[in-house]
Amino acid sequence: MLISDVRPWGGERSDVELSGGRIAAVRPHSPSAQATVEGRGRLLFPAFSDVHVHLDSTRIGLPFRPHTGGPGVVAMMTNDRENWRSAEVPLPARVAGTLERMIAHGTTRVRSYAQVDVDCRLEKLDAVLAAREKFADQAEVQVMAFAQAGILREPGTLELLDAAMRSGATVIGGIDPCTLDRDPKGHLDAVFGLAEKHQAEVDIHLHEPGHLGLFSTDLVIERVRALDMRGKVTMSHAYDLGSISESVSRRVIDDFAELDIAMTTVAPSASGQLSLVDLVASGVRIGLGEDGQRDYWSPYGNCDLLDRTWQLAFTRGFRQDSLVELALAVATMGGASIMSPSVARLAGIDDRPGLAVGDRADLVLVDGETPTSAVMDRGKDRTVVHNGVVVADGLTVLKR
Ligand SMILES: [Zn+2]
Repeated sequence: MLISDVRPWGGERSDVELSGGRIAAVRPHSPSAQATVEGRGRLLFPAFSDVHVHLDSTRIGLPFRPHTGGPGVVAMMTNDRENWRSAEVPLPARVAGTLERMIAHGTTRVRSYAQVDVDCRLEKLDAVLAAREKFADQAEVQVMAFAQAGILREPGTLELLDAAMRSGATVIGGIDPCTLDRDPKGHLDAVFGLAEKHQAEVDIHLHEPGHLGLFSTDLVIERVRALDMRGKVTMSHAYDLGSISESVSRRVIDDFAELDIAMTTVAPSASGQLSLVDLVASGVRIGLGEDGQRDYWSPYGNCDLLDRTWQLAFTRGFRQDSLVELALAVATMGGASIMSPSVARLAGIDDRPGLAVGDRADLVLVDGETPTSAVMDRGKDRTVVHNGVVVADGLTVLKR
């Protein structure tokens, strides 16, 4: 397969040959090349990786509804519980439709949460697993059994999480160990116990502020060190860890880098975040996600990770091209390196990986003059390649 006339990361016009699901050659563009895919001078990037998405709570494609969630995690979770069953479309169709729209926009690597609790039991997990199965040839989806409602607050939750891990989840997700369960040691012991039992990775959703968030983070760091779980733990959100002092930020980043603890961000506007530049420059794996998508928690999210890349660049105050491109690198291979520890961490803030000979042919073509202009304009003329096969064109997933 030959993709003709594309500009990898905005560089020279090139023809890219794919073979066996990988990039086999990158040559200067020749007008006589026999193209399977006409690049038409478009930009070529690695496919997007959404490594923090709640596919199970989506209302994408449904009528817009007013936001009814109260402030705080518990009130929002209660609002979701009161509404998710009565949506206009059954959950499995909503989840599959959302994943389809993500693929159509260029995301072929997805790490999705699936809430597991005494209300939904394994129903949300089953819907996410079914969508993963349905689009197995078009995207790589990792599923996380997520204790959105805590683990210790409601008897029976731990057993359900255990069942979820037996059902096909490969990541176990904890949340706010201090503020939700109000028992950080008990919560994290349960999460890391399940990880050990099922040889699973760990992801901790952290909304806790300042010193409380730092305290929870240090308990995680302690466990990663003691259990030698390097490369198997991700901190999600953790958007206030940079608010305490420069030396604390430095120490946390150094610990994350040393222990290969990854981070995911959904590009919030919070002012106390660790510096994205410092995280990448220090070798911390960091990826981007859309979080909930137009759901009972928030009206944001539209399945387009390029949109969220714009938001990442905007909220971090990036203006220089090199920094906007850094946001693209995070949104593509940054996330890929979280899903597959064998994918190298970004080697620095100027690293633009994913398009070399031998790399996996998971690609997206986007119209635009330069990578920065592609982020600013978020053009719709896209072609998506997964595992060496065109899976979407013109924002439509192709039928197999
Ligand atoms: Zn989330």
